[in-house]
Amino acid sequence: MSSVVEQLEAALPRSEVSTDADVAQTYATDQAGFCRAGRAAAVVRARSVDSVQAVMRIASATGTPVVPRGAGTGLSGGANAVDGCIVLCLEKMDRILELDPSTRLARVEPGVLNGSLDRAARAHGLMYAPDPASRNISTIGGNVATNAGGACCLKYGVTRDHIARLVAVLADGSLIRTGADTVKNVAGLDLTSLLVGSEGTLAVVVEVGARLMPARPACGTMVAQFADLASAGRAIVELAGPRNLSKLEIMDRTTVRAVEAIANMDLDTSAAALLLAQVDTVDAPAIMAATEATCEALGATFVATTLDEREGELFMRARAMALPALEKQGHCLLDDVAVTIPRVPDLLELCAAVAERHQVTVGTFGHAGDGNLHPTLVYDAREPGQEAAALAAFDDIVAGTLKLGGSVTGEHGVGMLKRPHLARMLGERELGLMRGIKGVFDPGGILNPGKAY
Ligand SMILES: Cc1cc2nc3c(=O)[nH]c(=O)nc-3n(C[C@H](O)[C@H](O)[C@H](O)COP(=O)(O)OP(=O)(O)OC[C@H]3O[C@@H](n4cnc5c(N)ncnc54)[C@H](O)[C@@H]3O)c2cc1C
Repeated sequence: MSSVVEQLEAALPRSEVSTDADVAQTYATDQAGFCRAGRAAAVVRARSVDSVQAVMRIASATGTPVVPRGAGTGLSGGANAVDGCIVLCLEKMDRILELDPSTRLARVEPGVLNGSLDRAARAHGLMYAPDPASRNISTIGGNVATNAGGACCLKYGVTRDHIARLVAVLADGSLIRTGADTVKNVAGLDLTSLLVGSEGTLAVVVEVGARLMPARPACGTMVAQFADLASAGRAIVELAGPRNLSKLEIMDRTTVRAVEAIANMDLDTSAAALLLAQVDTVDAPAIMAATEATCEALGATFVATTLDEREGELFMRARAMALPALEKQGHCLLDDVAVTIPRVPDLLELCAAVAERHQVTVGTFGHAGDGNLHPTLVYDAREPGQEAAALAAFDDIVAGTLKLGGSVTGEHGVGMLKRPHLARMLGERELGLMRGIKGVFDPGGILNPGKAY
């Protein structure tokens, strides 16, 4: 019997299979820290559905683990290689197959970047709504597998809300088609929704039917500064519900300082928090005026509003830089937790208290309007004790979020990073059901083993 690699080389175009150690290293991890990565037996950069099916048939017959991979921008270790696996990379399957303005549907291969689909849609007056900050570097396949969120999810929902149907390859190499193009479809169990967010553990997504919406330009943008976190938290609760904002983002002082250090945007580095709000409806002037008044009444020390789209994007640019800016300050351990809107002030307080208790730096930023924050522990790994303190603080933030009735991950997924925490959030029966469903899709347990649940 020939080896797995020999079988892959015999079944696939030569250019798609690599056993080079440097290539394996390049594709070994995503962007999460603290997650172990194994050594792949081969990296396959598939260019066709046939290739994906061939990989899965060989893997299934030989019991070889397969780690599906998009662009590797994940933040939970979900795409990390495991020893002896095949890393099955979908980034080369990057064609927009069809975009139909009359049905507002796009049919795309999994390696299409989110931003490329959105730009193609905008040429027809449409948009692809889910907008992870990584939209120009992450793939639709990866977004589907992680059920990616973003800033405008406050108004438009997450990836799952914008996927009509999927084509996917099962562990045994067979092809399934889920969902329908129709607006309404209640035919049977919703396998599309099940696959969205399954983190490569159930099937390999090879085609995505994405729903598009009429494009909405940002009609008004507001930036407000607060002298204390509690006032910013109260403003979030007031603004998130009734105002029909399309975005409501927060950056705390640590994050603002980090952004200012790399971008010189004249941000007030003494403010405790900065809120950024955006509206995309024609009544923007009235909504912005009311939003501004609310912030001022709740103690904002500075408020500025623009109705100019380009200027609004400049305001929002500071938020897009949050993570890269914090990464310039030291080693980062990025968290991703979610609570209901009334609990956002408590979560902000929790992060500050944890920072104080463990004497670590926490930069908190995120999608305040939907309750999904990213407290980021910044530390110097060369200093004794700092990494341990960061890990302890990370644990405390997750535990505190659970006490607030929240979720251990809002949008980055469980992957490897949040696996221990998932068991604290779900019961044994719920976890057992998830594992049972995996057993139906992937009886040999070869798809992304050791990830998620
Ligand atoms: C700077 C930065 C900002 C970010 N901002 C956001 C944000 O705002 N919101 C957000 O949600 N995330 C964000 N992320 C995280 C990341 O971009 C998302 O999780 C994204 O969806 C991952 O896409 P990817 O193509 O890189 O997938 P990968 O990282 O390659 O894979 C992610 C997971 O999906 C699986 N997978 C990938 N492709 C497939 C496929 N075709 N079939 C089956 N499984 C597959 C992998 O096995 C893995 O479990 C950010 C990351 C960075 C670096």
